[in-house]
Amino acid sequence: MQSVVYKNYINGEYVESSSGERFVDNNPADTDDVLGYFQLSTREDAKNAISAALEAWEKWSETPPGERGRILIKASEILDSMREELVNILTMEEGKTLNDSRVEINRAISLFRFYGVLASRIHGESLHSSELRTHLITIREPIGVVSVITPWNFPAAIPSWKIAPALACGNTVVFKPASYTPLIGYLLVEALIKAGIPKGVINYVTGSGTTVGLEMITSKNVDAITFTGSLEVGEEIRRLSATSGKNIRIQLELGGKNPAIILPDADIDKAVEMVARGAFGLTGQVCTATSRAIVIDKIADEFIRKIVERAKKFRVGNGLKEGIDIGPVVGQRELEKILSYISIGISEGAKLVTGGKRLTGGEYDKGYFVEPTVFTEVSPDMRIAREEIFGPVLSVITASSFDEAIDIANSVEYGLAASIFTNSLDKAFEFMKRIKAGVVKINKPTTGIEIQVPFGGFKKSSSETFRELGETVLDFYTKIKTIYIGY
Ligand code: NAP
Ligand code: MG
Repeated sequence: MQSVVYKNYINGEYVESSSGERFVDNNPADTDDVLGYFQLSTREDAKNAISAALEAWEKWSETPPGERGRILIKASEILDSMREELVNILTMEEGKTLNDSRVEINRAISLFRFYGVLASRIHGESLHSSELRTHLITIREPIGVVSVITPWNFPAAIPSWKIAPALACGNTVVFKPASYTPLIGYLLVEALIKAGIPKGVINYVTGSGTTVGLEMITSKNVDAITFTGSLEVGEEIRRLSATSGKNIRIQLELGGKNPAIILPDADIDKAVEMVARGAFGLTGQVCTATSRAIVIDKIADEFIRKIVERAKKFRVGNGLKEGIDIGPVVGQRELEKILSYISIGISEGAKLVTGGKRLTGGEYDKGYFVEPTVFTEVSPDMRIAREEIFGPVLSVITASSFDEAIDIANSVEYGLAASIFTNSLDKAFEFMKRIKAGVVKINKPTTGIEIQVPFGGFKKSSSETFRELGETVLDFYTKIKTIYIGY
């Protein structure tokens, strides 16, 4: 692929960073394959973007919602017209397989359409007063300038589910994509530009989280921050945004350590398939990935035998190729983190039953490939049972009863997604009530979410301030004004 230099997009213009420096974006399946060079921006660049967003806000907030929605729908159509190109780029940039990229690009297209249509449906309430000749109404107003900071693992879908509703509600946006995956974000912004978004309404700035990101979370001109990423950075954002002296609205969606409980009455083969898909699919680089299988002891041997067989069947390789099930991990740092957790698991006394190594030789040497890995004899207090690994590593924990399984599932500091596999209606409902997670699945993998319903975690997986997706997300991107009308 021919390498191009990509610029920031600030106040309706493509501009270079004041640093004059750039960083490279390459393919994690073949690091010689360079997708492009991006601006290594400074705090000054981020400040300019925020000022542009502030200046554009008033006019955009007064633009009729139907017109804002029309632009989002048009952007959706533009993305649709370049679907296969986007699918290929996503695979080259992030590493996921073409099938997985297709699912994600379809989702991004749907998100722009969904929030484009919803723009005209943003509404308040009309209520009866307790006083005579009085009427009560509420209206929703946009909040202002929104900082959008996103991770690399869903670099098309996550920015789309933040940017589209933010714009639909009449806010302006400064968007910083993850440094591993700036190109797909660049193309989303380009679609909005082609669709006719006015200058300053969307601004795109690439560069490191600790410079560009820092300005975006501490600026007095920012009214809201929406962030998806790691727990560590999320906690830093929570702390720093509180010191800005302004009441900044924040929404943080962070890590997970998602359990799947398998009860003896479950369809074991189906459970194995779904746990495998949740644990190893997308190379385990999913916030909702299944990282703990909690199995009732009397079926543990059968489950372990089958999950190991299944793990071995995943074909790991360059996602651009036919027949590949999972691609590389995204970078050197992530590869080292996964391998270090595998060593930690071994030294903690867990039993490594399959996988555990970096794949090497031939084409594997050009990228960051890891074997699907299963640990058994994992106890709930081990680090591999508590900390997010963010790779294709499954810890199997046994429990003697349903109650114990629920206690183990709830014993970590995260609470994003959780599954149960059972044919008992009674147990399924009890799980639904007792599990501390924002996304609960019954006989379904922990991964996989739909856009028309709310999404977000409990406990440290989320700021728990606001939910994303669905119509619920409008609560984050608008503020409510209550009006008392006497006549
Ligand atoms: P990350 O390291 O936290 O980075 C996320 C974003 O924050 C990137 O754009 C990053 O920029 C930026 N950033 C880094 N340090 C910053 C700082 N000090 N201030 C402001 N911004 C900063 O996370 P990641 O490695 O990209 O993504 C993986 C994590 O995301 C996992 O923990 C996963 O569970 C989580 N995740 C959660 C969800 C969810 O919905 N709950 C969904 C997907 C992923 P650079 O790229 O330039 O470093
Ligand atoms: Mg890349």
